[in-house]
Amino acid sequence: MPELPELEVVKDVLTRRLAGQTVVRVEVAPKGGPIVMRNLTSEGISAQLAGRSLAAMERRGKYLLFLLTPRSASDARLVMAVNPKLTGRLQLCLPQAPKAGPVHLTLHFAGMPEVLRYIDSKRMGQIYLTHDLAQIPTFAEMGPEALAITLEDFRQRLRTFRGEIKGVLTRASFVAGIGNAYADEILWQARLHPYRKRTTLSATDVESLYQAMRHVLHGAIEQVRQQMGDDIHLKPRDFFAVHMRGGEPCPRCGGAISAITANQRLTNFCRSCQPGGLIRGL
Ligand SMILES: [Zn+2]
Repeated sequence: MPELPELEVVKDVLTRRLAGQTVVRVEVAPKGGPIVMRNLTSEGISAQLAGRSLAAMERRGKYLLFLLTPRSASDARLVMAVNPKLTGRLQLCLPQAPKAGPVHLTLHFAGMPEVLRYIDSKRMGQIYLTHDLAQIPTFAEMGPEALAITLEDFRQRLRTFRGEIKGVLTRASFVAGIGNAYADEILWQARLHPYRKRTTLSATDVESLYQAMRHVLHGAIEQVRQQMGDDIHLKPRDFFAVHMRGGEPCPRCGGAISAITANQRLTNFCRSCQPGGLIRGL
């Protein structure tokens, strides 16, 4: 379940390791192929990728974007957009290295022995090949980047969303890059109950939320960078304060961390530090 911090670090690692490299061979596993690979171009996947070089890596929300050079003067730029969702990840390794899970795509490069694999145990993620990012469903509807938005813009946009604050925070159309795990961390940092209705938040609450978002995401990028190294298939999360820590003591007050599963989503929070949320009788 990579979110903004993990993908930001993966982007930096791949920029350092792969920029300028030319794809020479592509393997698509038939099993996951049509589910994982979404080719929005008129050429085949291998034909489309082979011979192109990686010009740059970018991240937008929970998508990693591989910007690939045109192959000739009349050719268009290609983007490989990877959205790992809950179960997908990338692995940069030697071809003989153990697979970190079922491999759906492998890229071989001209100037290095390592390959890049896309692994996805449940085939939930997607890899789009496109000349135009607007072709990717809902891509154009994404809100501003969570670490680029100003407090004023955050306030303005928040007014147009209703419902529980955790749900709003994880909606890409509000701000891009935050998922279930970091929403828990941010709300704990801001001392806001995850099921508080957005309409009950005061101006001070909204500012706390904004500052907590920046603090948690920036801090996580540094933690992940230190712990992940170039092993981009790892998911270092032992620095979390509450997420996945149900029953453990809250790092701030020592009370037991609550765990609630609703709509197949786990929510962890501290009832003492994050009071409220009476709507569901919690
Ligand atoms: Zn607490």
